[in-house]
Amino acid sequence: MSINTDRVTDNVRMECSICHRQFTKPKALPCLHTFCEECLRSYIASNPDSEHARGGVPCPACRQTIYIPAGGVSELPDNPLALMITHNFIGQDTGELPPSYQTLFGEKAFDPEASDVSFVDNPSVAKLVHSFGSHGSNEEQCTFLSGLAINEITNEIVVSDCSLNKVTIFSLKGQFKRSFVCNCSIRDVCVTAQGTLLLSVSRSGSALLREYHSDGRLVGVYGSHYHYENPYGVAMDSMQRVVVTSLEKNMIHLLTEQKRPSINFGSKGSGPNHFFQPYFVTVNGRDDVVVSDSGNHRIKVHGLNGQLKLIIGGQGHREGQFFYPLGLCVDKWDNIYVADSNNYRVQVFSPEGQFLSSPVKKTFQYGADVKPTNIALFGDNKMVVALRGSKFCQINIYQFQLSAHIRSYGGKDGGNCCSLLCCFSPSVAYDEM
Ligand SMILES: [Zn+2]
Ligand SMILES: [Zn+2]
Repeated sequence: MSINTDRVTDNVRMECSICHRQFTKPKALPCLHTFCEECLRSYIASNPDSEHARGGVPCPACRQTIYIPAGGVSELPDNPLALMITHNFIGQDTGELPPSYQTLFGEKAFDPEASDVSFVDNPSVAKLVHSFGSHGSNEEQCTFLSGLAINEITNEIVVSDCSLNKVTIFSLKGQFKRSFVCNCSIRDVCVTAQGTLLLSVSRSGSALLREYHSDGRLVGVYGSHYHYENPYGVAMDSMQRVVVTSLEKNMIHLLTEQKRPSINFGSKGSGPNHFFQPYFVTVNGRDDVVVSDSGNHRIKVHGLNGQLKLIIGGQGHREGQFFYPLGLCVDKWDNIYVADSNNYRVQVFSPEGQFLSSPVKKTFQYGADVKPTNIALFGDNKMVVALRGSKFCQINIYQFQLSAHIRSYGGKDGGNCCSLLCCFSPSVAYDEM
């Protein structure tokens, strides 16, 4: 696949949309927008909504509520690609990149004019088989992809758009089937055992959830005990109990099968039992809750009683570290797949939290601000990745086999992959299928 050089070069001139100049100290927000540190500081100081937003301010670009760290704007993470561009690494013979950037961008500066740039999909790792969706407001288009789910009953891909408040449904090969618009703010989506769609919502009275038939007919509204929660991620366990994340309270809510309040756990912070901006959630085969604790740049696994079982990662660019992890899912062996959005890659971990693979990388090659934001799996080897930029919406379907990657990984390291294979029995099971 060739790179759209125009688009990349265009984005190389990317600028802060507050001051319309090249970035000075570019700070990355969890909604994936980037602004100068100083621009953000004066925007917050002058924003009339600040004091009403209960500790958050609307992002100047997308209006999503942004919760500023306790230490202020300077504690927001830097945007490494914008930093790289403002330091003029790109397109110049500046030699090696700082080591912390090399995992993301390669050893040499990324040069959009170079013809031999290896592209996002490495065929030996993840092979791109379908690519669909585009940015816009037509029936089949999206402007801000948030939720992504597979309806295994109807064999459809379900996408929610939290800007257009629209649910769009595609076939497993990416053909547009239908869409419907909701009259409230929708966030994430999951599919119930009956094939209905459960959406996390805000500004729908005091409700937390809405359930729709896949043709758009409303089934029910739930969660009226929760006021002003700013819910985001939604998932269901094997008993059809619902798990919802709250960006406002930095908490996980569990609801009963009848969608009545059950228990909550977590509070704001960076300790083992804390969350900061827990965006997405999934439930694994053991009914453990797997959360992308985005503001803390880590993945956490909790039992359904709230007991902490595992923490993966921490902020950084190396393998096994994260930079605003967003959507996540598990395969049938409970391996964890994460859209490591601001690191422009997908990472896969064993159920014990061991880094296994990074099947999709360098999504900035679609455009400097194009990042993976969500991920889902279907069939035995299909991986669906939602990609989002400021004027970019696309869904890629990859063919991906963990075991194939581990073999090539071993090949690269002179066949010395025994430690991975020993720790990774699911690949054996996969080969036998
Ligand atoms: Zn600025
Ligand atoms: Zn934003």
